[in-house]
Amino acid sequence: MYLIFRCDCGRGMYAKEGVATRKCVCGKTIKVKTRRIIKKVEDYQTASDEVRDLQEEKYGGTFFTTADKVK
Ligand SMILES: [Zn+2]
Repeated sequence: MYLIFRCDCGRGMYAKEGVATRKCVCGKTIKVKTRRIIKKVEDYQTASDEVRDLQEEKYGGTFFTTADKVK
């Protein structure tokens, strides 16, 4: 399982379940257990998709939603 969460800077991140810390690109080291977990997903691919969606949500995104993303 992979855990989806946000850094304090607002960036979406993921970590493999069981990993204690994760370093954000902003330089902050996140203790995974102390974060509010937004979502748990099965695999790496889904995790990276979720993080990308979080980024677009926060920053407005420069991409329009495409038909294949509509659930
Ligand atoms: Zn950060």
